[in-house]
Amino acid sequence: METINWICKKEQWEKAVDFHGHVCGGLALGVRAAVEAQRRLRIERAEDEEIVCITENDACCVDGIQAILGCTVGKGNLIYRGTGKLAFSFFDRRRNISFRLAAKDKKEDLHGEEYIDYVMSAPLEEIFTEGKPRAGMPEPARHMASVKCQICGEAAPESRIRVMDGKLVCLDCLGPVHRERGWDRL
Ligand SMILES: [Zn+2]
Ligand SMILES: [Zn+2]
Repeated sequence: METINWICKKEQWEKAVDFHGHVCGGLALGVRAAVEAQRRLRIERAEDEEIVCITENDACCVDGIQAILGCTVGKGNLIYRGTGKLAFSFFDRRRNISFRLAAKDKKEDLHGEEYIDYVMSAPLEEIFTEGKPRAGMPEPARHMASVKCQICGEAAPESRIRVMDGKLVCLDCLGPVHRERGWDRL
């Protein structure tokens, strides 16, 4: 693809496509948001927990964030808050900077490569609405004591353990009927 007017380097896009596994518009949205975060937070990659991204969806675009910005679930600096919206919040704990980008309605007349080209080259305000994060700055990961489920014997952090009939149980053994609905991760 012709990437002359793109906001990101060709190699960045190729890296994201390689990571994600296919070329798609969703990935382009994620890469565009990640490149904007790189620029504003003045970083290449989020190596530690100082830079945090809250993603509100678990669709293709999250892979753009992971590939380019380096925020990952494993490092604890990619947090999934499932409102289902195409929105990302970025936080820099050290400098107390944060912003949220929410994708605007997709242009109906643009498809495939044309749409990707548009996402990667149009002014940011055409692609995203910018605002303040709707969720607060995430706390740094705390070390939690590990508790063994009294039914299956598997260990989990105490924040994930519940009490059922006087026993400490894991979310698996608690069963779907008893689990909190929807709010658990918000
Ligand atoms: Zn995709
Ligand atoms: Zn259990």
